Amino acid sequence: MTEQTTLAIDIGGTKFTVAIFRSDKMVRRESRATNREGGREWLLAELAPLLRSWSRETALDNCGIGFGGPVDFARQIVATSTHVGGWRDFDLVQVVRQIVGVPVVMDNDANAGVAGEFLFGAGRGCDPLFYMTLSTGIGGGVIVNGRVLRGVDSWAGEVGHVNVRPDGPACLCGSNGCLERMCCGLWLEHDHGSSARELMQHPEFVREYVVDLARGLKTVLMILNPARIVIGGGIAKSGPALFDPLDRELRKQMPAWSRARTDVAPAALGDDSVVYGAMALARRIM
Ligand SMILES: [Zn+2]
Repeated sequence: MTEQTTLAIDIGGTKFTVAIFRSDKMVRRESRATNREGGREWLLAELAPLLRSWSRETALDNCGIGFGGPVDFARQIVATSTHVGGWRDFDLVQVVRQIVGVPVVMDNDANAGVAGEFLFGAGRGCDPLFYMTLSTGIGGGVIVNGRVLRGVDSWAGEVGHVNVRPDGPACLCGSNGCLERMCCGLWLEHDHGSSARELMQHPEFVREYVVDLARGLKTVLMILNPARIVIGGGIAKSGPALFDPLDRELRKQMPAWSRARTDVAPAALGDDSVVYGAMALARRIM
């Protein structure tokens, strides 16, 4: 592993995290809650002073960003955010580069997450690998032949908007009954009045919940036949209370003739899959 010093940033729907890696060791880390109503302006006002002081205190070589929404990787701009205002076609890379003064690379947070888990976490040695964030929203990232698969327009892996209930409630994307609409933290709280963390403690709820979740993952298994699916994000911390029923449901939904494995595991890097991946992206390892 290279001896570089890298600043890694994870901008998510409920929190943002900034970390410094020296070689592949995390030497500094800070995480703060995100104010969703505050949108882009709020986030930049929080982030900028932090980046300014950290980059003054540490000589950096490069910087990687995992952004919690679609990113146009070729143009290196945020495409949009379905949850937080003010991000459409925003040049976040330039803003951060002006502060930290080193090269900056940005990707979607799930693409960073899949890179992090593939290199350092639960996806080591698993190729193809699919990584899904199960959090405020739902995102997906793909590794094929040791590289992040972004697709021709940087939109590969967006499993959150696979329709699992075509007659279901309206999703923010304009469709109905998307995986994200049925299973993400934001909507669970809206629909059921309690947090995903609380809901996952009720086995009867989880039995229903995993039906939609498995429908989404079945699509992944059928198309990609991954060596493993790694699930990160807050809801993935529910452990066996979620993963055991999910595994049973997924096996039930897969057709009997399919020999595709159904290996689904929680992220090994916990809240830090994205910053590890952002570090790897910054160093152009992935
Ligand atoms: Zn949708």
